[in-house]
Amino acid sequence: MPPMRPNQRVQSLSLSTTLALDARAKELLAEGRDVVNMTVGEPDFNAPECVQSAAITAVRSGKVRYTAAEGTLSLRKAIAAHLTSTRKVEFTVPEITVCHSAKHALSGACLALIEPGDEVLLLVPAWVSYVEIVRWAGGVPVSVPARADCGPDLDALARAITRKTRGILINSPCNPSGYVMTQAEVRAIGALAEKHDLWIVSDEIYRRLVYEGEPHVSPVSISPAVRARTAVVDGASKAFAMTGYRIGYIAAPREIANAVVKLHSQLTGSPNYVSQCGFEAALQVEPPEVARMCAEFDARRRRIVAGLQALGLETPMPRGAFYAFSRVTPWLDARGSAGFCEDLLEEQNLAVVPGSAFGADDYVRFSYATSLAQIEKALTRLAAFLVARQVPRTL
Ligand code: PMP
Repeated sequence: MPPMRPNQRVQSLSLSTTLALDARAKELLAEGRDVVNMTVGEPDFNAPECVQSAAITAVRSGKVRYTAAEGTLSLRKAIAAHLTSTRKVEFTVPEITVCHSAKHALSGACLALIEPGDEVLLLVPAWVSYVEIVRWAGGVPVSVPARADCGPDLDALARAITRKTRGILINSPCNPSGYVMTQAEVRAIGALAEKHDLWIVSDEIYRRLVYEGEPHVSPVSISPAVRARTAVVDGASKAFAMTGYRIGYIAAPREIANAVVKLHSQLTGSPNYVSQCGFEAALQVEPPEVARMCAEFDARRRRIVAGLQALGLETPMPRGAFYAFSRVTPWLDARGSAGFCEDLLEEQNLAVVPGSAFGADDYVRFSYATSLAQIEKALTRLAAFLVARQVPRTL
């Protein structure tokens, strides 16, 4: 037995599949292999110019010190104003807690809300970290499978509610499916939450990345009653291509926002000052780079989905985020989607994420936050892989 070892709780935690696969793809690239990496959910753009100059000014200002654990007052004001204008409902500064990232905001929310044994509903396919965050907070994640088009199955959601259910975690636009909930769906989830006295944590990190149809709808916009039981999680990573800055926030009823501050004041301390300044600059006036980035993502979305469908992969057209989620059932062997992705990387140097990471083993996720040239290469490699693998059973 080694003299030092992690405790049981940490041993039961799994490493984020997407981060692990991204690390593997980067390792192979470093070894000189020509890998197309479609694993990680990270815009391949630079942060907007205004963010960069605000960050540089901050570094040179001599003010790079601790801030309040809840973030600077000026950033919290900017977030409150941004939420008020984008979610069409008034937010005030005490409801805003700045966090080190959206992931940090989500873990803070779950640690602040969940009592041991509380059941939390997750709409599956769901982002990799939800299950582990809920479990770490002492809760019991309950997966509710989506409809075939990856939209929420509202009947299944209602059926999954038990005496122990306390909350619902939603994510629209969704990672991994790109599905964007309609207003009617958000309204129905709000009504369920009201009827059964549940809280909602709404992960809105991809809110800005919706390419067609109805824009993103937040539960807080539905009614004052739903707003009172909802915590919004958002951040700078996706909309402003600021993944490495690590900055996000939670907006929630004061008591919850304060509880998260208490936790963070003891566990992690104040958020990064430089990143807070960069985020504030991005929120003042939307940087022109955002619309350009969205237009580019949209072009890639159309190309990759058309390409995947042409290869015979059932792939719903995602309205948001930057992922295509394809059903690969006919090509799977006993190892499921993990085996499919392993072979694809080994045989064709194409790295994608198995659906098993999101609770949907019949699928694989392609991140199209990469250039059109890489997407073309990926489609060619995938075509060769599928041909070599076997004739699909159902085509
Ligand atoms: N929520 C979802 C659904 C995500 O996909 C991600 C990032 N992949 C996050 C939250 C975390 O974002 P951040 O970089 O702010 O931690």
